[in-house]
Amino acid sequence: MTPVLRVENLTRYFGGLRAVHEVSFDVAPGELKALIGPNGAGKSTCFNMLMGQITPSAGKVELNGEPITGLPPREIWRRGVGRTFQITGTYQSMTVAENVQMALISHHRRLFSMLPYAYRLYREEAMALLDVVGMAQQADRACAILAYGDLKRLELAIALAHKPTLLLMDEPTAGMAPRERIALMQLTADIVKERGISVLFTEHDMDVVFAHAHHIMVLNRGELIADGTAAEVRSNPHVQEVYLGG
Ligand code: ADP
Ligand code: MG
Repeated sequence: MTPVLRVENLTRYFGGLRAVHEVSFDVAPGELKALIGPNGAGKSTCFNMLMGQITPSAGKVELNGEPITGLPPREIWRRGVGRTFQITGTYQSMTVAENVQMALISHHRRLFSMLPYAYRLYREEAMALLDVVGMAQQADRACAILAYGDLKRLELAIALAHKPTLLLMDEPTAGMAPRERIALMQLTADIVKERGISVLFTEHDMDVVFAHAHHIMVLNRGELIADGTAAEVRSNPHVQEVYLGG
């Protein structure tokens, strides 16, 4: 089976700093895969290269067997790579549903001059997505008054509006309380299962990672030192030494 994502020898230097060095891995269809590692390991740099935000110094990225290395972010997004943004990704003055409707309008490339019509057209689809993330009750509330955890779930609905085949989530649970973290990852795991999409995520909370990820990769000083199941990664002496501290 062709992997959704294939990364080969991905490398990025910042001046003399080797932020990411010859990283290679695959993400299979329907896989929930974690990329973990200490601060400064190169996780965000990897994500930014996958999204086209940063140009690789070397290496290759393929999406569904097609090269996407060096393409601009908009083009990579168009080909089905979604990502969750920070809170700035939502329009604070709009309601929860309107934010999702806006994302649907953008996905279907409706003209903005047709806005009132398009809004009505996508209300139902937006409500279905809000239902998926458990936000239907809050559809008509203004985003500005949402709790942080709810904003995160809204972000997920916005990302899903684009119908990605691969979703990249860089620290999706940052700033959330432990209970909320587990709930958001459980929700993500359910979505992966139901929709068959692939998700690559970073996360600091090891309980969350080991509970939900199908496979776990460990990055240390820009190098991938492990890629396997939770049991394999846990028992890897190199990982224990540099990361898990024991
Ligand atoms: P992580 O997300 O794993 O914490 P990052 O990818 O953000 O790690 O950073 C990896 C390394 O690259 C760090 O040493 C960081 O300081 C450096 N770095 C990241 N972005 C830049 C940049 N734009 N310019 C220079 N150095 C950077
Ligand atoms: Mg980071």
